[in-house]
Amino acid sequence: MQFKGKTALVTGSTSGIGLGIAEAFGAEGANLIINGLGDAAETEQLRQRLAEQFGVTVLYDAADMSRPEQIEAMVQRGVDKFGAVDILVNNAGIQHVAPVDEFPLDKWDAIIAINLSSNFHAIRAALPAMKKRGWGRVINVASAHALVASPFKSAYVTAKHGVAGLTKTVALEVAEQGITANAICPGYVLTPLVQKQIPDTAKARGISEDEVIKNVLLAAQPTRKFVTVEQVAALAVYLASDAAASITGAILPIEGGWTAH
Ligand code: NAD
Repeated sequence: MQFKGKTALVTGSTSGIGLGIAEAFGAEGANLIINGLGDAAETEQLRQRLAEQFGVTVLYDAADMSRPEQIEAMVQRGVDKFGAVDILVNNAGIQHVAPVDEFPLDKWDAIIAINLSSNFHAIRAALPAMKKRGWGRVINVASAHALVASPFKSAYVTAKHGVAGLTKTVALEVAEQGITANAICPGYVLTPLVQKQIPDTAKARGISEDEVIKNVLLAAQPTRKFVTVEQVAALAVYLASDAAASITGAILPIEGGWTAH
């Protein structure tokens, strides 16, 4: 229960990695602000389930992470309710895959807004209360694509490299105020989003779903295994712990050896 009395806001926590991170902080006693897409009944059910399972206060906020004013209002709601968002996890993200000269403009703008600019807006809104408390943790869920590129992912790779730069800059600015900022860089994690791509990729390439996993998704990862949501969540919890107080400005791979190539 190392985070009892603290509050964690996890963007994009109605699914996948974000949900796993929210659960891991709830299990350690943190009050939670969850966020992400989903219909009202589903998100309320999730909110109640987390509150009951962990015995913590859980707010759901529907802020659209492409809208700066909604992001700011969500953080302010957390500050008003709990005094501060002590642990900010910028996790919401989307993907679109297309050659750069055919990349749809609206997809470029959406990916830059949701995967990169949202981190800036949330950090900007959360830092003043963290500074007042003299303690804070900013954890940005970037990607192996913050460190290396893949073809056809220009917006995603650009956004994730940008998150790495933002993370380092924030870390330097608040280093003396008890606040750390780090980026987690997962390889492939079998979230609903990745799962949904497997049948389509199998069809498109005329190969089996097992071959998609082995020869397409995991081809980059020397371990030939997916990273798990639980592994990513455990790293986030570690980065928020007192033991990690000297880790800041770090861009941390958790990708089965992908970027060691
Ligand atoms: P996911 O699709 O399972 O979850 C994404 C979450 O973001 C959902 O809760 C969704 O509702 C939310 N979201 C999307 N658009 C939003 C918006 N406009 N406003 C608010 N919320 C929004 O995906 P995931 O795989 O769990 O990805 C989470 C993060 O991890 C992303 O930043 C992604 O880039 C990163 N990541 C994922 C993988 C992977 O293999 N799954 C690898 C590296 C990095």
